[in-house]
Amino acid sequence: MHYHRGNAYDYDRWDLDEWKSSTISKYFANLEKYLGKTATPFDVGTKGNMTLSYFKSDHFLRLPLSKMYKTAGYKPLARGKSLGYRDLLVTSWKSIRMNMARTFLTPIKERTNFHVALGTTATKILFTADKRVRGVEIMIGKYKKFIKVRKELILTGGSINNVKLLHMSGIGPKELLEYNHIPVVADLPVGKNFQMHLRVPIFVAIDKCCGQCLNCSTPDCQNDFFDFNEFYQNSWDYIMDKIGFFTHIGINDFVAYISTNQRRRDTANIGVFHTYFKRNDFYLKSFLEKRRFHPAVAASVLKYNKVRNIMLFYPTILAPVSRGEVYINSTHYLSQPVIKPNFYTDENGIDFRSMYAAVTMIVSLTDSLAMQRYKAKFLNIDIPNCRNFKFCSEYYFRCLIINLSSPTKKCGGVTRMGHSCHNSTVTDEEQKVLKVRGLRVSDVSLSPKVDSTNGLGLDALFAERLGDVLRHRWSKHYSSAYQKKKVAINVVEGEI
Ligand SMILES: Cc1cc2nc3c(=O)[nH]c(=O)nc-3n(C[C@H](O)[C@H](O)[C@H](O)COP(=O)(O)OP(=O)(O)OC[C@H]3O[C@@H](n4cnc5c(N)ncnc54)[C@H](O)[C@@H]3O)c2cc1C
Repeated sequence: MHYHRGNAYDYDRWDLDEWKSSTISKYFANLEKYLGKTATPFDVGTKGNMTLSYFKSDHFLRLPLSKMYKTAGYKPLARGKSLGYRDLLVTSWKSIRMNMARTFLTPIKERTNFHVALGTTATKILFTADKRVRGVEIMIGKYKKFIKVRKELILTGGSINNVKLLHMSGIGPKELLEYNHIPVVADLPVGKNFQMHLRVPIFVAIDKCCGQCLNCSTPDCQNDFFDFNEFYQNSWDYIMDKIGFFTHIGINDFVAYISTNQRRRDTANIGVFHTYFKRNDFYLKSFLEKRRFHPAVAASVLKYNKVRNIMLFYPTILAPVSRGEVYINSTHYLSQPVIKPNFYTDENGIDFRSMYAAVTMIVSLTDSLAMQRYKAKFLNIDIPNCRNFKFCSEYYFRCLIINLSSPTKKCGGVTRMGHSCHNSTVTDEEQKVLKVRGLRVSDVSLSPKVDSTNGLGLDALFAERLGDVLRHRWSKHYSSAYQKKKVAINVVEGEI
């Protein structure tokens, strides 16, 4: 849903000739279809398939949050810059969420040369003696089938399942494959270089009405609580007319990109996301449960929420330095692979220091004038392992970070694209798996260094670029639109 191209710095630090920010901006432009009514300060295409717009809810916290970040020296994010706050674009069309399947597959589903097999799991890639892809073995229910590959196989199983499938097919670290008695087809570091965005929740109590009517005791000031009648009305409005509360995501699309990196003050290393819960909010319980908070933490947050509205700040490490690993646990196709994220294990402690600086900065910013109008108060949540530390002391914050850090859903790096001389490289710049023939990867597992987006924007970029590469490779008369014509978008160096 959130859509962000990422920053020029994200791509330039990949250090790959074909993937410089100036080159790939054309692919982005070709993918995007901006449908917003107002002009956007960012470069965005208007002729592609991926429908983008702003939700722009008139959430009351948008202004105070902007003012809060201003006091820390941040401005609205400008073209070419990576620091600042902004409303994120979203992949939606007429208030309907547009996922990749709706965007790209639905329009072509009637094509006779296009087939989708539902409920099907690829279990193994098979190779000829000279290491060319021969086909893929699949399970449909309990039936095993073989699909022959004539030209190339493109793997898009995501950052975890790509590793599983490649390992089961004999592509991976030699020792691991031998340990699992899998014949080695190619000794490659598949599964190494695993990176994942990591975040920490900061719970802050807010009084909505104090900021708006100054006298907190008036009945008007007490009305920002969750109301089931309102909920049913909102659901009805959305289902019938696509209007109202469910047509946007509140303050969730407001994000601040900040830097806590002493050496690169001009580049964001932390993204701060925001969520808001009304007093006694029905959604908060399931929110806490889904994220598997410790029961004591969840109970404490819910207790506060009985009487206070809660604002959640989510500082997130955008470019983690720590590296983890994914590998198979057994050779059965249904077994879960092992994910060892190794959070906060980088040699110089950069990830932890970045997060510590971000958390303490946000807590101190809640004391800013803009937030104090809303009686913002950093909540002393009951974290069992931190009970012995003085609230807001250095050790308390350290403890909070260690106990409440949780991964986001954005990860990558396991089939790293890069130069063959690099010891964690799995694919070349044309997304081709090294040491075998006829196999490519096209999803976020390719990203050499996880970046500030690492989500659906990047996923679409890999697919768009591979489309161009494949047409070049297999179509005699194809000439790339990217190489010849200049797209109608004015691409400015920097923000891409
Ligand atoms: C709840 C949630 C919310 C998110 N919100 C955002 C957001 O707002 N913005 C954003 O940019 N990103 C968001 N993300 C992250 C984003 O969805 C991922 O980064 C992106 O989808 C990764 O794309 P991918 O192609 O690498 O993998 P996936 O999208 O995971 O695609 C892999 C596909 O392969 C299939 N598959 C796997 N193994 C096999 C097999 N053996 N056989 C057959 N099929 C197989 C899977 O079923 C899946 O369909 C979110 C993720 C989650 C989970």
